[in-house]
Amino acid sequence: MRLTVGKAALLAVAAALGGIGFATHENRIHEQDKLAKIASEIAGRKVGVRCPGFFGGLVDTHGEAGRVQFDAGGRPENHTDLSPETCAQLRKLTHVDFSCLDRGTCGYAQFQAGWAAHTLAHEAFHLRGFGDEGVTECYALQNTSFVAQRLGLPRQRADELQRWLFAKGYPNEPPDYHAAGCYAGGPLDLSPQTPAWP
Ligand SMILES: [Zn+2]
Repeated sequence: MRLTVGKAALLAVAAALGGIGFATHENRIHEQDKLAKIASEIAGRKVGVRCPGFFGGLVDTHGEAGRVQFDAGGRPENHTDLSPETCAQLRKLTHVDFSCLDRGTCGYAQFQAGWAAHTLAHEAFHLRGFGDEGVTECYALQNTSFVAQRLGLPRQRADELQRWLFAKGYPNEPPDYHAAGCYAGGPLDLSPQTPAWP
């Protein structure tokens, strides 16, 4: 009798866990679809975004925020792989309080969340066909606001975030992420007719 009860309880627990696992998987698929739509808009073609699952996250060793593979002919694959950290930051971006931008008191938590939006833009420009890190990065830093808006941030806030990330992040990047034409009104300025930068 006790064994039967125990078994029933065990089955209930297993069913509940199975339910959670299923929901998590479904959420991940939904999340990837949402990110893929944003990346596709930037890439100008239909591309995929992959966030590692729980076990994928455990074995992730690339050490990069995101990556796009190119073939020998210089053509990008049709998807990007994002790190577990980047995916987690993108997931919570709209829950981060960016009102500190008004006071100039934002810190690492805001930077990490905003930088993840930049990472998605960066990988999307690789998917568009840009292989050069400097050019890709310059375009990405001008489209971080676009990604943040697509994820739910109001436009003005997203624009502020983009300028702040450029000011804080760009100077600290390695030399191959810097392009000579990446300045206001320069050859890589995507809207050279406006004074706003990036
Ligand atoms: Zn890159």
